[in-house]
Amino acid sequence: MKTSVTVLGLGLMGAALAEAFLKDGRTVTVWNRSPAKAGPLVAKGAMKAGTAAEAISASPLVIVCLSVYANAEEILTGDALAGRTIVQLTNGTPRQARDLAGRVTGNGGRYVDGGIMAVPPMIGRPGALVLYSGDDEAFGEHRETLAVLGRPQFLGADPGLAPLFDLALLDAMYGMIAGFQHAVALVRSEKIPATTFEPMATAWLTAMMASFPEQARAVDEGDFGTAVSSVATSQVAFPGLIETSRDQGVDPGHLPALRELFDRAVAEGHGDDGLARLITLLAR
Ligand code: NDP
Repeated sequence: MKTSVTVLGLGLMGAALAEAFLKDGRTVTVWNRSPAKAGPLVAKGAMKAGTAAEAISASPLVIVCLSVYANAEEILTGDALAGRTIVQLTNGTPRQARDLAGRVTGNGGRYVDGGIMAVPPMIGRPGALVLYSGDDEAFGEHRETLAVLGRPQFLGADPGLAPLFDLALLDAMYGMIAGFQHAVALVRSEKIPATTFEPMATAWLTAMMASFPEQARAVDEGDFGTAVSSVATSQVAFPGLIETSRDQGVDPGHLPALRELFDRAVAEGHGDDGLARLITLLAR
């Protein structure tokens, strides 16, 4: 028999999670602070709980998807947690995940944290990735049920790992988007349409991403030699980049912080190294 599931939080994401479980033919109990949001799911067969505690008691597997961790901390308390597996998919930090794991296990529950690498329309479809970490036995037991939402990837027993990877992927994404948007602002300062520039930028960034495997190897092995492009070569480009931004009436944005990093790398004697050297300078 398929495991029944509770979903706490029926915002855009929570409703998509509950719907995917319903489509998979599972018994789904739902709870939301504003009860009206349960209506469309009840019409599709979900059971509506009157309180969060009642919803937690209804199923062995409880999925939590609220705005912020503080909301989840308010709800995940008390005896109802005993014997339940809590899968917390609310976005948070590794520290928050570890703290909440302690509270849930202290109340007799099992805790798995998760990071959803998808938007609501992707849930239940190929292409959705959900990162998990925490109680590996509980994850193993519920892996098949969690796979209804998207491809599950388990990262380890530390509940902080899923939010760490989630945030690291967002970090990489925002950095890339910031670079692209700044470049578009530069080009548009000459009234050149962004659509003229975009294919060039996409091709360039795609080609540059080919350096990631080598950078990853270099930093893991502490071997920063390069026959391609050195820190010193890139460092000399930064004054021009920043000056051009200012000349074109564009905020230099993230460039001064990057310039400082390159300057520090050269000042500390790493000018001949490959760009992966900068990763080590970020660690404090
Ligand atoms: P929504 O804003 O659509 O929904 C927020 C949910 O949190 C609602 O159920 C809301 O209840 C509930 N909530 C807020 N405050 C409280 C509170 N004090 N007590 C109880 N419940 C509360 O957000 P999403 O569904 O889009 O996102 C939910 C989580 O999923 C977030 O952590 C988000 O970062 C993550 N996520 C979202 C993605 C997306 O594309 N949407 C992608 C990946 C992750 P109410 O209806 O009563 O306001």
